[in-house]
Amino acid sequence: MEKVTRDNYKLVLGLEIHLHLRTKRKMFCRCSADIWEKEANSITCPVCLGLPGALPVPNEDAVKKTQLLGLALGCSLNQNSKFDRKHYFYPDLPKGYQISQYKEPLCLGGQVELDSGFIADIERIHLEEDVAKSFHEGDRTLLDFNKSGMPLVEIVTKPVFSNTVDAVDFCKKIQQTVRFLDIGDVDMEKGQMRLEANISLRTQEMEKKGELCNYKVEVKNINSFRFMEKAVLAEIDRQLQVFEKGEMPIQENRGYNETTGKTVPQRTKEDAKDYRYFPEPDIPPMVFSNGYINELKKELPELPHMIKKRLVQNYGIKISESIVLVDNFGMEIVNKFEEFIKKGLDSKKMASALINKKETHLWTFDKFKDYLQVPDELIDENALRDLIIKVMENNPKAVEDYKNGKESSIQFLFGQIMRETGGKVKPDYAIPLIKSLIQ
Ligand code: ZN
Ligand code: MN
Repeated sequence: MEKVTRDNYKLVLGLEIHLHLRTKRKMFCRCSADIWEKEANSITCPVCLGLPGALPVPNEDAVKKTQLLGLALGCSLNQNSKFDRKHYFYPDLPKGYQISQYKEPLCLGGQVELDSGFIADIERIHLEEDVAKSFHEGDRTLLDFNKSGMPLVEIVTKPVFSNTVDAVDFCKKIQQTVRFLDIGDVDMEKGQMRLEANISLRTQEMEKKGELCNYKVEVKNINSFRFMEKAVLAEIDRQLQVFEKGEMPIQENRGYNETTGKTVPQRTKEDAKDYRYFPEPDIPPMVFSNGYINELKKELPELPHMIKKRLVQNYGIKISESIVLVDNFGMEIVNKFEEFIKKGLDSKKMASALINKKETHLWTFDKFKDYLQVPDELIDENALRDLIIKVMENNPKAVEDYKNGKESSIQFLFGQIMRETGGKVKPDYAIPLIKSLIQ
């Protein structure tokens, strides 16, 4: 057998992301979907309690919002879609099945381009109902049905990720897109977005041949991006140790223990792989015309990845700068940037100021204009940079003192620059630049 080494084994990672949509009502009943911090079991009805004979009626708004998300993520919309029953037994699902989608999900395919340039393939996006929330108290389990029946979107990727950086970026892009479309809050602390990672390892030879392993371990219910990264790394370690013993990891569900930093086996649902799916008989199949789909496409706003590319093309800023503007600062700053550029400010200088000097985010046009133009008349930014570097080289002690916390050293360095330029530099322009060059 081939020697097991960390380098020889490669990660194969697929993701399942569950998220709540923002709708007025739950997925299949008239109950309010505003459930956050409401008294337990105060927002329920026969449908979402799973009482016998209650009839589900699909929420049209939830269907439409799922389709919008699909379009934004490059999916094609299924013109013939339907709901299915997925059976399993668990206290948080008293009717014995979850209404979900199996063979004909709302959205198929799809791709997301990540900051690394990697393109992540989406397998499908479907719509389902969330289950109740269980609390374990000693040997008792308490149930709150407010969450039962909440509209829940599930995004399933292909097993395309080979590192955690891309996987985390993918999840962030999904969260950003949902917020951009204004179809959900996807607040992970409120359980509105939950992650699952399907993890296996394969040898380099298998990777070259495009072969997958015949097992995967599902790490369930991860509730932060950071924990996802940790859970995947912990699981890689664990699986490597199994291989090192000459064994194969078994296919199972595991959970991530945030305290120990390890994954632990979970009580498996009855028989995880046999959900006995069949079409939900109480809900007729859905048919979507081309006309409907085309109208929906018109509702799509300009999306983050498009905005980033446009900022680079139209204003000549760097892609790294446009990523910071769009992803980190958001549309309020992007809109301000575009508005001020159109009024005549220099795009490169303004982008650089927004990124390096956070207080500029609150500035008016006039303040920006003064700030960006004053040094122009006096000394050009590149010349100033060169000069600062020269002064730093000639005064290593002052630089060292500043690094060690002596704030006044900056004033000394600034004084040297004033002397060199005959006073042609403004402190509120030069001092931040000195600070940024020291770091
Ligand atoms: Zn209800
Ligand atoms: Mn699901």
